[in-house]
Amino acid sequence: MIPFSPPRIDDKICNEVVAALKSGWITTGPRTKSFEKKITQYCGNKATLCLNSATAGLEIMLRWYGVGEGDEVILPAYTYSATANVVIHCGATPVFVDVNAGDFNISVSEIEKAITAKTKVIMPVDFGGMPCDYKSINKLVGTVKNKFVATNDVQKKLGRILVLSDSAHSFGASADGHKTGSLCDVSVFSFHAVKNLSTAEGGAIALNFEESVFNNEDIYKELCVKTLHGQNKDALAKTQKGNWKYDIVEAGYKCNMTDISAAMGLVELERYDSDTLVKRKHIVDLYNSLLKTDERFQLPLFEEGGRKSCYHLYPLRIKGITEEQRDEIMQEIFSRDVSVNVHFMPVPGMSFYRKMGYNVLDYKTTWDNFIREISLPVFYDLTDEQVHTVVRAVKESVDAILLKHA
Ligand SMILES: *Cc1c(COP(=O)(O)O)cnc(C)c1O
Repeated sequence: MIPFSPPRIDDKICNEVVAALKSGWITTGPRTKSFEKKITQYCGNKATLCLNSATAGLEIMLRWYGVGEGDEVILPAYTYSATANVVIHCGATPVFVDVNAGDFNISVSEIEKAITAKTKVIMPVDFGGMPCDYKSINKLVGTVKNKFVATNDVQKKLGRILVLSDSAHSFGASADGHKTGSLCDVSVFSFHAVKNLSTAEGGAIALNFEESVFNNEDIYKELCVKTLHGQNKDALAKTQKGNWKYDIVEAGYKCNMTDISAAMGLVELERYDSDTLVKRKHIVDLYNSLLKTDERFQLPLFEEGGRKSCYHLYPLRIKGITEEQRDEIMQEIFSRDVSVNVHFMPVPGMSFYRKMGYNVLDYKTTWDNFIREISLPVFYDLTDEQVHTVVRAVKESVDAILLKHA
């Protein structure tokens, strides 16, 4: 069975994890701090906080901005539920909008239509590793400034809608040569096991505010406290001689990264551009070359208008099929010992959100993308031979199902 996206676990990763275990410090400490600094250097943003998931990072930033009851957060209907669930956690209202047919990303014109006086945050999602059109989104939040109603000091200071990117897929992607993390106010990365760069579980908040508005280093310190119970000293600081006393300055959360995770992240980051991305690009190029001659397939976009993907997913679409046919094709592919996936089951179609009154059919392009989409395996250890096997399985399965329905 060809798996969908197993993590890359080699001796280098194992040795660094063992070194972290034997170092005498396994929770947040020197490795996490070093990983944060290296992410900031890599992405070109202003300050970075690592934590235990992207989900926690997104929620913490919504709370930092004071998002709560009565507020609206705009996000794409075509995303993983994490993006929407954190809005619910804060008591605010998710406002789903439709996506583009081309790159699967949030439609800027749909965002524009959805903005009201209650809009506090826009959460674009860099689907499959392709960055959203941040140039247009950043411009838009500037032009609708006069509509924005600030209800606390942080919101007054920014004076506009916050652009909080769900960059769970897009670490290492870029626009006009600038890496994600540096493309809008705040970007949140995921280092979950299936993501391009993995720390088993993990995430990072990349802060990138204009220094004239916010001191990013100050926000970083504030977030350190917020993500560790509101404690004014972290565990490492408390081990310093005589430094045992601490205060709780707020009822904070608990979502810090461990140094064991950071050990994995440091190894992965070191070889990310020179090795990981080279391999992933090779895989998607090979898929493209094998699939592009077949009229039935709609190939994904990996580059457009200065934006460049980090090849997280290979979201293939099949032209003119129904949801049932897609499901049958997937079953056929699985029966040929190849794992495939669908990104995503649109959030407004999930029972929890349906019960809240959302209707997935209100998002036409989302629905059309979803019913025709099959994600093919992309992972570091995938061989060329396996890519050929996947393509053969996909073509045979499409043949079989389309013939059946002909
Ligand atoms: C994986 C994922 C997340 C959540 O990441 P975690 O680190 O698991 O919290 C959020 N958004 C999208 C689009 C994802 O794919």
